[in-house]
Amino acid sequence: RSPEPRVRRAIARSVLASGAVRLLANVGSVADALEARSQGADGIGLVRTEFLFVSQEREPDQGEQVSAYRAIMAPFEGSGLPVVVRTLDAGSDKPLGFVDLPREENPALGVRGFRLARQLSGLLERQLSALAAAKEEVDAVDLWVMAPMITTIAEVEAFTTMARSAGVKSVGVMIEVPALALDFGSAAKLVDFASVGTNDLVQYLMGADRNASRLGDLLDPWSPVVLRLLQSVARWGRQRAVPISVCGEAASDPLLGVVLTGLGVTSLSMVPVALGPVRTLLGSVSRTEARRLAHRATGVASAHEARRFVATALGLG
Ligand code: PEP
Ligand code: MG
Repeated sequence: RSPEPRVRRAIARSVLASGAVRLLANVGSVADALEARSQGADGIGLVRTEFLFVSQEREPDQGEQVSAYRAIMAPFEGSGLPVVVRTLDAGSDKPLGFVDLPREENPALGVRGFRLARQLSGLLERQLSALAAAKEEVDAVDLWVMAPMITTIAEVEAFTTMARSAGVKSVGVMIEVPALALDFGSAAKLVDFASVGTNDLVQYLMGADRNASRLGDLLDPWSPVVLRLLQSVARWGRQRAVPISVCGEAASDPLLGVVLTGLGVTSLSMVPVALGPVRTLLGSVSRTEARRLAHRATGVASAHEARRFVATALGLG
């Protein structure tokens, strides 16, 4: 007999149809934002603002920043959908042309992300006020702003205070450092939303360089220890009514999308091209099934077993 086709039928009461999860896009340019809109994204879940800074010889001025942010939001004008912007995430693998950064022995563990941005006098304040100004010029777009590499509650407080006083209404943090993930119960009291950067979170949780292809086994986001940490973050999110997104590459794996949704993640943000496959699978799985699979995936012994179990249960193994 020929093997079962690897497709599943859409169901009326799917996790997607229930509205439990939104499918958002990661963008780093206006072209990406247009692509996200045409792929039917429910909004943008990560604008990587580095595109505006890294290759410059000076910090873009206020007018340049406002017009760049306006152009990124424009494809979603009038939609009322969220556009989640990340403040500058430079340092480590993302050097800055206009600042002479000291060489670091371990750049991934060094002055990067929010740690760097807040040291560059006034840069973050200028970026936040340009974002707030850009939002005023684009109709009916829901602007959310978050900072990368936040580690402590003091940093959460510093960033949320800064962003709110610049006029940003929805303020969040990225969860990329295990310390913040473990303390999310406290952080959740201070933020409007959070987004998990699994690329960095897995790197720091497993102590394995995200760019080291020889450590691929350790960097697998299906690792049950990663899933249990995400489950804890999502539980705090639910308890404190804080939406939790995943915007690392893990979110573009359709099978893992089922598990993340089952754990209580409320949006998945991915490269625009992944939206179709993720949408198709999430349209074929019920909420109860997603929860059951997620629960089982957190309890197995390895990433391999978790993936195999979910794939087999969904008839895609
Ligand atoms: C992440 O770390 O998962 C993330 C989304 O940010 P970046 O890959 O840009 O560091
Ligand atoms: Mg990151």
